[in-house]
Amino acid sequence: MESKNAAATRDKVVTFRDKCGISQALIDELLRMGRKFGITTVRSFSVDKLIIEDWVNLKCRYGCASFGTSWCCPPATPEPDEARRIISEYATALLLVGQRECADFYRNNRKKREDAVRYWKGIVATERFLFLAGYYKAFALVSSTCSLCKQCTYPDLCRFPQEKRPTIESFSIDLIGTLHNLGVTTHVAKHSEDAFKYYGLVLLE
Ligand code: SF4
Repeated sequence: MESKNAAATRDKVVTFRDKCGISQALIDELLRMGRKFGITTVRSFSVDKLIIEDWVNLKCRYGCASFGTSWCCPPATPEPDEARRIISEYATALLLVGQRECADFYRNNRKKREDAVRYWKGIVATERFLFLAGYYKAFALVSSTCSLCKQCTYPDLCRFPQEKRPTIESFSIDLIGTLHNLGVTTHVAKHSEDAFKYYGLVLLE
């Protein structure tokens, strides 16, 4: 006969096959955890709402200084068709949003990088938390570019491979269009005092 301790241990074991969607209680827990990283919004949505377009890759290739200089940006990341295939293997994703209001935010590069690093770590920590909660497919994408190092080592080996994730844009995801699709209002910042928003996605299951 199974002992009480064995039964208690068995009940704590996370099963990897019984997940279907995500509960509000778990979202609330993620939000509580995320606040220390600056995350203020967590919501789940169907991946059908993601807009994946080839022109996004064009924006990365032409006009972005991160192209060819980061492990988290093209051409080190999946091409648009590969990104479509990968995302088609998921049904649900999470949107995570953080906001920074600071008068000189757009001029203060050190502060901006500190916040970007904190937020990046928060998204990766969320992915890890979900993995340990049984969402074994969880995979994070973070907006903008990786700022964990002042200068990325690309094409030499990444210094922090455990925290390396592709950017949302590198997956050819039209972030603004997707936010509109989700009913989230956003606008392009035009003034240095405008609020700066960070976005992250976790492909869930
Ligand atoms: S952790 Fe450093 S080396 Fe790795 S992708 Fe980010 S910036 Fe580049």
